[in-house]
Amino acid sequence: MEGIDKNTFKQIFYDHWDAFKQFNPRFDSPDYNNTIQKMLDCGDPEKMGFVQYRCCNCGQIRRIAFTCKSCFCLSCAKVYTDRWADFIGRRLLPGVTYRHVVLTMPEFLHIWFFRDPALLSPFMRAGHACLKDILNTCSGVKLDIGNIIVLQTAGRSGHYNPHLHILMTAGGIDPLEQWKSISYIPYEMMHRKWQYHLLKMLRDNVSDPTVEKDIDRAWKEYPKGFVAFLQPGEVPPGGQGLAQYLAKYVVSPPISVRRIERYDGKSVRYWYRDHKTKQIEHETLPVLRFIGRMVQHILPKGFHRIRYYGLHGNVRYKKMREQLTNIIPTHIPDDPRGYRVLPAKPFQQRFFESFGKDPLLCPKCDNDMSLELISHPKYGTIKKFLLFEELPDERQAVGIATGRTIHRSERLVQIPLPFL
Ligand SMILES: [Zn+2]
Ligand SMILES: [Zn+2]
Repeated sequence: MEGIDKNTFKQIFYDHWDAFKQFNPRFDSPDYNNTIQKMLDCGDPEKMGFVQYRCCNCGQIRRIAFTCKSCFCLSCAKVYTDRWADFIGRRLLPGVTYRHVVLTMPEFLHIWFFRDPALLSPFMRAGHACLKDILNTCSGVKLDIGNIIVLQTAGRSGHYNPHLHILMTAGGIDPLEQWKSISYIPYEMMHRKWQYHLLKMLRDNVSDPTVEKDIDRAWKEYPKGFVAFLQPGEVPPGGQGLAQYLAKYVVSPPISVRRIERYDGKSVRYWYRDHKTKQIEHETLPVLRFIGRMVQHILPKGFHRIRYYGLHGNVRYKKMREQLTNIIPTHIPDDPRGYRVLPAKPFQQRFFESFGKDPLLCPKCDNDMSLELISHPKYGTIKKFLLFEELPDERQAVGIATGRTIHRSERLVQIPLPFL
């Protein structure tokens, strides 16, 4: 592990990204180039811009560079995952029990998604349609259910393996507007229904007629359906806990830095835990193949990896939250299946947790530091904040949210970073 840190991942791309593109022109597009460039520039104040704080007492300056916030960047992965868990935590419906569902497909079907990433959207929709169908069948009535679906394209070893992780409400609203819980789902039915919905999706969305051959093969070789399973037990209670729990399954960059063991300029050695054997496996790849294995997980620009369906739909969930509080039985106090929604962590706290210090305290004299300026790599200095003066209007003008009333002697300015 010696000498391996998050810069090793960057170094690999510094050294070989250009060569990789020459051999794999498919990846020489703005989407991929931008993602790689952002990852390489991340945290560099010259390239990314920065916020500058100054201590009003002793004049000490602190610069905090902007980071890329990309899920491909190992430095940002934790913040990315945390923010994401925060967000999902706030979207869960109080009092509702959730199950964690995983939907996969046979390996020979992966190629269709690799060739055409646009298929990943109908793939996610098929996941929702399938679970709706399953719960309707279980309950015998039409249920209004909710799903939060996360797309993962990487298997444990970093291979391309598109599959879905889903937080599904273990029940739904029936036609009489009552909540109906579903605690038992037969596996056989689940496997067959998933096979049906996925193959129907391929038939409806792939224009290449040779897909029919693979669809036939899938029916023949998998008479019992596709692998679809519920993680045992109910997902842990606690809104954040639950979201963090799911985050664990979808760790963003395919290989986190702690799994890279060696890089000598030509090859990369890393480890992963094999799903089936539960053993730690090691793999050494020529560096260009390693890059290929990583970049195949970069999704098209603007693609939403996390989507909300049914009761969780973007337009509906607020209303549903209110409606559900009226119909979810609340007679059991502190229902262990429920969860509590915690507010999102502010920037200052996240910074504190990452670096062990308060970003707004002077490292020299412990006095409050004030925001002095924001520097953007393209637009230069966006704003100079005059210290020792009240500037409420100007703060508003650049969209700065102040956390509390500011006194002249105690100026705490909390800014949401522009790229968050
Ligand atoms: Zn100071
Ligand atoms: Zn980054």
